[in-house]
Amino acid sequence: MKEAVYKAIVEKFAEWASTYSHVCRKGCSACCTQNVTITALEGENILAYIRENGKEAWLAEKLCQTPPSSRPRMTTNEFAHICLSGREADPGESSVLTPCPFLEEGVCGIYPARPFSCRCFISEIRCSASQPAHVQECYLSASTVMMQLIEHLGQKEYWGNMQDVLLALCDISINREVAEKLDDSTRIMQARLRTHSARPLPGFLLSEEDERIIEPLLADIFAIRIDGKSIKDILNGK
Ligand code: SF4
Ligand code: SF4
Repeated sequence: MKEAVYKAIVEKFAEWASTYSHVCRKGCSACCTQNVTITALEGENILAYIRENGKEAWLAEKLCQTPPSSRPRMTTNEFAHICLSGREADPGESSVLTPCPFLEEGVCGIYPARPFSCRCFISEIRCSASQPAHVQECYLSASTVMMQLIEHLGQKEYWGNMQDVLLALCDISINREVAEKLDDSTRIMQARLRTHSARPLPGFLLSEEDERIIEPLLADIFAIRIDGKSIKDILNGK
């Protein structure tokens, strides 16, 4: 059921976001860095794609080539929780500009299974190492709201940098083939220690204007029914 909810959130957001203009094109990849964070569910989707396409050796090589990633200080929902309780939160810098290990000649090697953070990243101007991406504030806010929902969906499971979550999931027997191809078996344990546990949704950090724009998107998502239950009820654990 979690997979169906995830898919519905991703699809509904893509539909909503299709009215926002951007200059992103295949082969344009300055945004593909090692800053990507994912949930365990998104990691499982990537690993399923790897198994279906017989790319276990490819993935193991990529994960071994990549130096240990920077550890995000906190999850998106943890950050929101601290802010909503009136305290100062420092999420840390997302300044790692090292290219994503899955980038090959400007193209994503796991494109059909790429996580939400990659799917939602767009820019109205062509960006580069010295030119940050630019999008409307409400688009950024809506992307963050979706990330919060996705984290809530995966609460208590791994949340962290993409390479770390993938390595951590190699501990599961279905991914043994990738684990066996790693050059160093301690990589999995080290990666597990760098992940966080996904947190439940504490609420959103939205301005009144953003809330007005994003509310219909949220209402549409919450109303979707999966196996006879609304997504709102599923997310509320009913
Ligand atoms: S976000 Fe920037 S680097 Fe990435 S595809 Fe769009 S324009 Fe290119
Ligand atoms: S997973 Fe694919 S889309 Fe995401 S950063 Fe890496 S290469 Fe880019």
